Amino acid sequence: MNTSTIETSESSTKRVLLLKPRGFCAGVVRAIDIVQIALDTFGAPIYVRKEIVHNSYVVNDLAKKGAIFVNELDEVPEGARVIYSAHGVSPAVREAAKGRGLKVIDATCPLVTKVHVEAIKFAKQGYSLVLVGHRDHEEVEGTQGEAPDVTQVVSTVEEVEALVVPDPDKVAYLTQTTLSLSEAGIMIDALKKKFPNIAGPKSQDICYATENRQTAVKNVAHGADLVLVVGSANSSNSNRLVEVSKNLDTNSYLIDSADAIDPVWLEGVKTVAVTAGASAPEVLVSEVVEYLQAKGFGSVDEVEVMPENVRFGLPPEIVQAIASAPRMSVAAV
Ligand code: SF4
Repeated sequence: MNTSTIETSESSTKRVLLLKPRGFCAGVVRAIDIVQIALDTFGAPIYVRKEIVHNSYVVNDLAKKGAIFVNELDEVPEGARVIYSAHGVSPAVREAAKGRGLKVIDATCPLVTKVHVEAIKFAKQGYSLVLVGHRDHEEVEGTQGEAPDVTQVVSTVEEVEALVVPDPDKVAYLTQTTLSLSEAGIMIDALKKKFPNIAGPKSQDICYATENRQTAVKNVAHGADLVLVVGSANSSNSNRLVEVSKNLDTNSYLIDSADAIDPVWLEGVKTVAVTAGASAPEVLVSEVVEYLQAKGFGSVDEVEVMPENVRFGLPPEIVQAIASAPRMSVAAV
C-alpha cells in the first residue's frame, strides 16, 4: 500500500485519505467515450437507451452535448441511431431494435458480456441458471434475458433455500458484476450447500473494478472515522462500497457530490476516507476534497492499495464509424 501526501498542513490534525483505485473503471471510460465519439462523428441527437452509466453528472453532461436518454426503444424514432448502456441489454431488446430499423452502437461493458456468454453456454448445455443479483438492476435484466425460461434471480439466502429446479444436479450460478464480494461469497456458499454439484463461471463474475474498490475500502476503513463514497444512488458498486465500510463499523455515506455532505457528519471526525464508485468522475471527488479542506481537513494523503491499468477497446461499429466519418478528427479520438 503506497501513501503519497498531496498537500499537508503541519498544524492540522484532521486529514483526508484519498483511496486509489477509485472512480471510473475501464467499462465506464469506454461507454462515455462511445457516446462522445458518436456525437462527434454523427452529430446530435444520439439516443441512449437507459443511463449510459449510473451517474447523474455524467448523464447530464452528455445530455447537454446532445445525447437523448430514453427508457425504452419505442421512444427512439425509427431508423435513428441508439447506444446501449454499459449495463447491457437482453436479446429481446436487440430484436426490438432490429424491428424498428435502429442503428445500434453497443456500449455494453465487455465484463458484462462475459456473463451473458456464460449464461448462453450454460443454458445450451441444459443447466438451470441461478443469477445472484438485484432483480431490478438493468444488468440483471439483460443477463436474465439471455435465458429467461431457465434463469432464476436470487438476492438473499432465503431465496436460495426456496429455489426449486427440475434437476438439482444440473444447476449453474452466475452473479451480477458489481456485488459485494463478501455477500456474494455467502450466497455462493448457500448455493453450494443446496446444490453440491452446482457449476459456476471459470473466473468470478464480480469485475476487477468492483473488487479493487472494495479492497481499498477494506484496507483503509479501520483507520478512518468516516468513509465518503462519491456516486449516484442507483450505482450498485457505489452502494456496495458504503456497505463494506459499514460492515467494518466505520460510518459511511453515498454522496452524489460535495453539496450532499451534511456538516453534522463531520462533527468529532478526524480522518475521512474518500473513494468513488466506478461511474463517478474525478471532478466530483476533487470537489469533495476541496470541501473537506475548507472544513479544516488540511492534510490529504492518497493511499494506493493496488495499481489498476485496465483498458478496453472500442466496439467495431464505432471503430468503423470513425474510419468512415469525415467529420471526425483523429485528435478528437
Ligand atoms: S463496474 Fe465492472 S462491469 Fe461495470 S462497467 Fe465497470 S468494469 Fe464493467
